[in-house]
Amino acid sequence: MTTLEITGGQVLEPDMTVEHGDVLVDQDTGEILAVGDVPAGDETLDATDGLVMPGLVNAHTHLAMALLRGYADDKPLDSWLREDVWPIEGVLEPDDVRAGAALGALESIEAGTTALCDMYFDVPAVVDAVEQAGLRARVGHGVVTVGKDRDEASADFEEGLTVAREQAGAADGRVSTAFMPHSLTTVDGAELDEFVPKARNADVPIHIHANETRDEVTPLVDEHGERPLEYAAGHGLLSPTDFIAHGTHLDAAEIELLAETGTGVVHCPASNMKLASGIAPVQELLDADVTVGLGTDGAASNNDLDVFGELRDAAMVGKLAADDASAVDAAAAVEMATAGSADVLGFDSGRLAEGKKADIAVLDLDSAHLTPQHDLVSHLAYAASGADVRHTVCDGDVLMRDREVLTLDAEQVREEAESRATAAVERAR
Ligand SMILES: [Zn+2]
Repeated sequence: MTTLEITGGQVLEPDMTVEHGDVLVDQDTGEILAVGDVPAGDETLDATDGLVMPGLVNAHTHLAMALLRGYADDKPLDSWLREDVWPIEGVLEPDDVRAGAALGALESIEAGTTALCDMYFDVPAVVDAVEQAGLRARVGHGVVTVGKDRDEASADFEEGLTVAREQAGAADGRVSTAFMPHSLTTVDGAELDEFVPKARNADVPIHIHANETRDEVTPLVDEHGERPLEYAAGHGLLSPTDFIAHGTHLDAAEIELLAETGTGVVHCPASNMKLASGIAPVQELLDADVTVGLGTDGAASNNDLDVFGELRDAAMVGKLAADDASAVDAAAAVEMATAGSADVLGFDSGRLAEGKKADIAVLDLDSAHLTPQHDLVSHLAYAASGADVRHTVCDGDVLMRDREVLTLDAEQVREEAESRATAAVERAR
């Protein structure tokens, strides 16, 4: 057994209190052995003047969309997708996706994110990037049938299923999968009825964008006479392993349905604000005991993958939504970004405790904007950013030490992403 001792700092406990203490990790199993007063480790990671915390979990993203960062802004979801995003995505090759996912993975490690959920296409290329980066991920192929004939639509659903079956357990078990129909309005209902039972047989969760904008809600209500999540439940979606992204426009019955079925929600506040999609009822979801995690969504609608920004936005916009400054308090926001997201994704991480996965970030507190230290949970929610992260550890392995990423060649990743992004834009014109 090789052990790693993260030493000299303060530790964020699962109950959101902060204590002085160390963390001992078994690097062979990738699990936390002890927290607090721990025996000496074979190797050490210096957390002096730092806060040892669970690595952040980005529960909904499209890593490779980092290639489209800043390419098209200031439009609503529908025209942004049709006029800008889909034309470029149509010319991307697997090597472009690999390079974009590597850029997103690099940015994630630099911001203390240790696990994520990715929906995209060319998923084996995404898995390559995740494997090399050393991150934990749940991945899937985003199935879209709109504009496709029956054979093409079925082929896309088949690919979604194949990816979910074949990529499960990749990267030494750090990669798991989900079946991912893109959204309730971009996939055909009859196809859902055929493929959802197959996904259940494959024993994989189902992840879908739902209730993101009013324009997604109205057509379903008009055409089927039911709210989107009633429609989803009617097609066999919504279960304790399933999770939806966004849930921006939910009525009380849909919140109840999420709670009853144990379906998770990934709140993506920055994306919702930027696309003017709406304000999710986060405090109502929490009050109903729905499991809520946080996601950045893709870098084209955020425009970064810093989950610290997301948890600040979640706290801020949660107060606006509830018209109550005490709604979505600092601890609730930090919990959503760690344990909440991990629970939504079915990962045994997000809490610093014995037996949990050793997915850990160390935040550097030695800076003007984190002084004085009245309340470190407040700092995490309202003052810190990904740039404050000193070390990132996933599955017991150090991915970043003293802000140097060890698993990826940062310069090479950035150069390749830059040149492939430029070339893709040229091809799409
Ligand atoms: Zn998304």
